[in-house]
Amino acid sequence: MFLSDLFINLCILIALLFIYLQIRWNTYLDNWEPKKLSLVDGIAGGLLGNILMYFSIQITDETIIDLRYLPVMLTMLFIGAFPGFISTVLIIAGRFLFGWNVSSISALLLMLAIFIGFLLILKNKDTARMLMKKAIMMIVFANIAFSFFLILLIQDSGILLGLIPVYWIISIIGGFSSIYAVKYLRKSQSLLEKYEKESNTDFLTGLNNVRQFDEVWNQMVIHAEEKKERLSLLLIDIDHFKKVNDTYGHPVGDMVLRELGEVLKRNTRSFDLVSRNGGEEFSVILPDCPKHQAIEKGERIRLAVEIHPFSISADEHIHITVSIGAATYPETNVNTENIIKSADDCLYKAKHSGRNQVCY
Ligand code: GH3
Ligand code: MG
Ligand code: MG
Repeated sequence: MFLSDLFINLCILIALLFIYLQIRWNTYLDNWEPKKLSLVDGIAGGLLGNILMYFSIQITDETIIDLRYLPVMLTMLFIGAFPGFISTVLIIAGRFLFGWNVSSISALLLMLAIFIGFLLILKNKDTARMLMKKAIMMIVFANIAFSFFLILLIQDSGILLGLIPVYWIISIIGGFSSIYAVKYLRKSQSLLEKYEKESNTDFLTGLNNVRQFDEVWNQMVIHAEEKKERLSLLLIDIDHFKKVNDTYGHPVGDMVLRELGEVLKRNTRSFDLVSRNGGEEFSVILPDCPKHQAIEKGERIRLAVEIHPFSISADEHIHITVSIGAATYPETNVNTENIIKSADDCLYKAKHSGRNQVCY
């Protein structure tokens, strides 16, 4: 009977933990400033503790037991003392909603003792880095404190003998499985973020890849049409890059491509989107940028590349040039569908008019 009720408590804990962590990530709560986020985590821990209490097991008229200490442990282990404190306060306050009596006052003392004990374990230098060691110490400490209070409150030794071992077992299983759940969810979330980022990034230069270029370009086109804003595009191609590869080798060619990515980044605004569209072809999307500014920017990039010394070894460098084709909605193209084609035609024109120039 204790066993099945405590097991239900454990299932509620794991399910709500899962839901909260999903909300935390899917609504980008973790982009909030750390103080605000740890307050939210503390409140969530407090709410979780209260929900566990709501599903607690009535032992005597006054005494209820549940796994409410686990949210405090999790917030302290994974986030810090401050959210642990917030959770503790909310759990203590919530316990008094179940009545003012000896048991609720004992519960207050028990939660305070648990919080202080956890704090000491958290601050202990020996355990500073070891999550599992801290977790074991916290679970054992909480169980001892809990058993001590239970012995004080319940005189019936028959109940105690049935209850305490079951509580220890469920509490240990609950502690470890909730830590495992948090660790597992954190790991899968960070892998997901990593893969999402990698699928949009060019591995050589770290710039956006062509897939990301397409996606952003389509969004920008819709935005520009709706808001009646201007939108410019620069397509950039290295002149005679094949010669660089043929003369110095492919790895040096790669170094030059990487460095060109940095030059492009340095010579654009933070909200311009620089991509490597493939091979030695790059692009810059210039949101809200009229034609005359796009020409200026193209010219600035062309010049920056021309004068930049590209390292090919510790003490040697070479110079390269680029040709740039540009187009602007709606000044050069009223139809957004033709902009890329138009910029590409201009690039072709730049190549055939002697290279190292910007063409409209
Ligand atoms: P143009 O001035 O007409 O653009 O001449 P080009 O030699 O730059 O043009 P072409 O298209 O003939 O050659 C592009 C070269 O870029 C061929 C290829 O070896 C090189 N290239 C493409 N991708 C990479 C890469 O990832 N790394 C290196 N090192 N070279 C690359
Ligand atoms: Mg090319
Ligand atoms: Mg080229």
